[in-house]
Amino acid sequence: MTKEQQRIYDKVRRSTPEYKAKRRDYDSTPEQRAKQKAYRAVPKHRAKQKAYSATPEQRAKQKVYLKNYYAMPGQRAKQKVYKKNYCRTSRGRAIQAAFMAKHTAIRFGAPGHFTGPQLLTLFSNYGNRCLRCRRKRSLTPDHVIPFSKGGTNYISNIQPLCFPCNMKKGRRTTDYR
Ligand SMILES: [Zn+2]
Repeated sequence: MTKEQQRIYDKVRRSTPEYKAKRRDYDSTPEQRAKQKAYRAVPKHRAKQKAYSATPEQRAKQKVYLKNYYAMPGQRAKQKVYKKNYCRTSRGRAIQAAFMAKHTAIRFGAPGHFTGPQLLTLFSNYGNRCLRCRRKRSLTPDHVIPFSKGGTNYISNIQPLCFPCNMKKGRRTTDYR
């Protein structure tokens, strides 16, 4: 068998559903997962994978794949449950809060941007307590200087307040830090 024949043979063999299923099982073993994680931890490898998925062909493939995936029976309902549960985790809530702040900032033309994980770090730096009532409640990002008074959406303008305290502070500039 020539090298080219071998290549074609391998390609056909790997495209069978049985092979794919086997491969999937193998890839989901704890050892394989750990190996993959170690591989991705190398910045060079991660950059390579990122560059690969950013190619137009891969993006088009991914789009088709996702479309088919979400069209599978029961997926929509599953996603709904997943999203609901995710929004209940502190990480999910933080990401959502960052997303909302980003869009409010755009509306006000305020510069700056912070991420969900950045927000979680900020919360934990203050012991996950509201800075106004000092209670350990579910926290929201409060803009020390509100957008309406020219405040930015940088993390440096954010303080953790619980929802009731955030409402009570309103559009005043009160630094509880
Ligand atoms: Zn509070």
